[in-house]
Amino acid sequence: MTLDDAKFLALAFEEAKAGYEEGGIPIGAVLVSKDGKVLGRGRNKRVQEGNNILHGETSALQNAGRLAPEAYKGATMYTTLSPCDMCTGACLLFGIPRVVVGENKSWLGGEAYLKSRGVEVVVMDDPQCLELMQKFMTEKPDVWNEDVGGNLEGVGH
Ligand SMILES: [Zn+2]
Repeated sequence: MTLDDAKFLALAFEEAKAGYEEGGIPIGAVLVSKDGKVLGRGRNKRVQEGNNILHGETSALQNAGRLAPEAYKGATMYTTLSPCDMCTGACLLFGIPRVVVGENKSWLGGEAYLKSRGVEVVVMDDPQCLELMQKFMTEKPDVWNEDVGGNLEGVGH
C-alpha cells in the first residue's frame, strides 16, 4: 500500500498549527503504520510543558505508546520540519524506514544521515509548513534558538 503523503503531512501540519496557537514552537509530527493507520501524533511542547525533549517527532512517538518492534518496521514518520539530531536518532532507534519532511528550507536536520542509514527521506517542500515556520522564526527568534541548541544554520550541512 502506498501512503497518501499529502494527507498525513496535513495532519502533522494541524499539530504544528495548534502548537503555534498555544504560543509554542510550531512543529508537528504523525507516525503512520504501513497500513495507513495513525499510530501517534504530536507536536513540539517545549514552551507549553517546559519540556525540551518533546519535539514533534518524539511527542508523536510518546503518544503512540508502547508498540511491538514490528509496528515501526513499515511505518512512516511525517514531520513538518527537517528532523533534528535527537529525532533523527529516535527514528533510527525504532527502525522507522521512511521519513516525510514538510520542508527543510527553514532548517536542515539529519536527512543525509538518515539516508546513509538506509532510511527513505521524502521532502515535500510544503508552502504551508514553510510559511508557518518562517512566521514563528521571525516572531520568536530567541525561542527558536533555544530549541535548536544554538544551531541556527541546522545540523545537516
Ligand atoms: Zn527534534
